[in-house]
Amino acid sequence: MSVILPVAQRGEEVLKIKAATVANGEFNSEWLLQLASAMHATMLERNGVGIAAPQVYISKRLIIVASRPNPRYPDAPEMDAVVMVNPEILAFSQESCLGEEGCLSVPDERGQVERAQAVKVRYYTLQGEVIETTFEGFPARIVQHEVDHLDGILFVERLS
Ligand SMILES: [Zn+2]
Repeated sequence: MSVILPVAQRGEEVLKIKAATVANGEFNSEWLLQLASAMHATMLERNGVGIAAPQVYISKRLIIVASRPNPRYPDAPEMDAVVMVNPEILAFSQESCLGEEGCLSVPDERGQVERAQAVKVRYYTLQGEVIETTFEGFPARIVQHEVDHLDGILFVERLS
């Protein structure tokens, strides 16, 4: 059975601070794997398409990006969930687009946010393998939203 974690809500300190880098010694550790698993279960239970560790009160640079259609985002494209440790956006496309966002930490509000249409990202897997890849469209929007969480920024601060 998966552990479901409580989700921090807008106004709480953990959502306002810059999260710490996951250290080399933490890769592939039992606690990091269990954290990722619990974050994934919590995201699914709340119909999220992404989640960041600070949202479950862990101020570490770990996010999950998992676009899929669900009641909160019926038109979201389907993708395999990607767990990213220490993600870094290396490049933003010049082209940007407006799109609706919500957040498990701001349950009663949605709004239009301008984001880059595509982003190039470097991140580590839970095992510590480095990956560089590009995301476009809605998944790129999720990446930008979740990386913002690691820097203490909520989407409501970016409303157009
Ligand atoms: Zn969020």
